[in-house]
Amino acid sequence: MKSQMRNKCPECGAYARIRKSEQMDERGLYKVGVLDCMDADCGWRGTFDFTITKTLVSSMKTAKRGKA
Ligand SMILES: [Zn+2]
Repeated sequence: MKSQMRNKCPECGAYARIRKSEQMDERGLYKVGVLDCMDADCGWRGTFDFTITKTLVSSMKTAKRGKA
């Protein structure tokens, strides 16, 4: 399986390309952007947002800051 996110047009299901992506905070937890349907017969375009909602496994790097 590919690790890359595949975006689909909500109208026709074809591949939708990220036209623009803007990071809204310092850590990259929240991004907003514009999606463009790649099917010329459809032509749909809309906005999306990407949010990291939860930490399930803490970083080994940042955990070192706390008590061992
Ligand atoms: Zn489409």
